[in-house]
Amino acid sequence: MTSGVLIVGAGLSGAVMARQLAELGHKVTVLDQRSHVAGNCHTARDAATGVLVHVYGPHIFHTDDAKVWAYVNRYATFKPFQHRVKTTVAGQVYALPVNLHTINQFFGKALSPQQARDFLAAQADASLATPQNFEEQALSLIGPHLYEAFFKFYTQKQWGVDPKQLPASILKRLPVRFTYDDNYFFHAFQGMPEQGYTAMVTRMLDHPAITLHLNTAFTRAQTVGFDHVFYSGPLDGWFDYDMGRLGYRTLDFEHVTHQGDYQGCAVMNYPSPDVPWTRITEHKHFAPWESHDASVLSREVSRPCGPDDTPYYPIRLTQEQALLSQYVTRAERERGVTFIGRLGTYRYLDMDITIREAIDTAQHFAALTATGQTMPAFMVRPI
Ligand code: UDP
Repeated sequence: MTSGVLIVGAGLSGAVMARQLAELGHKVTVLDQRSHVAGNCHTARDAATGVLVHVYGPHIFHTDDAKVWAYVNRYATFKPFQHRVKTTVAGQVYALPVNLHTINQFFGKALSPQQARDFLAAQADASLATPQNFEEQALSLIGPHLYEAFFKFYTQKQWGVDPKQLPASILKRLPVRFTYDDNYFFHAFQGMPEQGYTAMVTRMLDHPAITLHLNTAFTRAQTVGFDHVFYSGPLDGWFDYDMGRLGYRTLDFEHVTHQGDYQGCAVMNYPSPDVPWTRITEHKHFAPWESHDASVLSREVSRPCGPDDTPYYPIRLTQEQALLSQYVTRAERERGVTFIGRLGTYRYLDMDITIREAIDTAQHFAALTATGQTMPAFMVRPI
């Protein structure tokens, strides 16, 4: 009997992999350096108020993938939840994503959908047929006025660089709507786990074939004796950062308790350059089926990630791409390890994609081991 499979990290990638492999008959050991499971989607009840707090920032579950939706519903009761984000700029509150209401309010008009399309098209830069970066993408879609008010400085604060340096794909996360639909996401399935993500991940890991070790920092020496390692830590961390660090943004949260209702919604963005935070999350609005007099808010400030900080968003600018490709080449020469998840593959991933990839990776591993083949370093190559 071997030691089975080692999984580094008890976030969504690690927990789904662990569960799937356990159900496929593997013995699984999971390590996590933190004192809790669920990685950055960890939720915990605030002792003073009883509010369920998204400790590492807001996570809203949304997907078009029916298999993933069915999967998460096995481990948690999901309550209907539609994310409606507001944004405060120049003393006014607007709805996001940019929709007909935002456009009409911002320009003081009462345009119909087609009028609004024509109005923005007249402002948009027609020379930008194939936008090359975030700014060009924004200017071609919504023109300079909405871009300056809602996106330019928010993006500078969030990413620490000029939006011209960022890929257009980041903006493609956000739609522009010529209707009054202000649902932040347009996916078929959307909801919140009633008891939070940590309860959901705890249930995933609750299987007789899974052994979980929290508060356990990973070293390569721990891999000895295992059939295979699935590593969801930072890719460069596997190599002790010996060629330098891949750039991430980290977040600082200032958690504040408030009596009553502070802002009337779960997330309020602050896109103006003279406010240091990007957004304020008021956690109790993520659980409208609960009732709390007091409230917990988190002001969120983004900054470069240092060696002792929590990595959140992979930056993936030109310099990171070069370093990433060097680490990927090295990783592909490793044997017995597969790099998974946001940190292991250095990608900006939503929760549903993370889960889908973990389900598929486990399936692939089972198929390969059954036929004596070797698992590759990456199921999804980061570059
Ligand atoms: N963004 C912006 N203004 C906003 C909201 C988003 O400029 O009010 C830009 C910003 O660059 C951000 C990106 O759109 O990084 C994606 O936003 P999303 O809300 O998907 O970010 P997340 O919740 O993952 O941080």
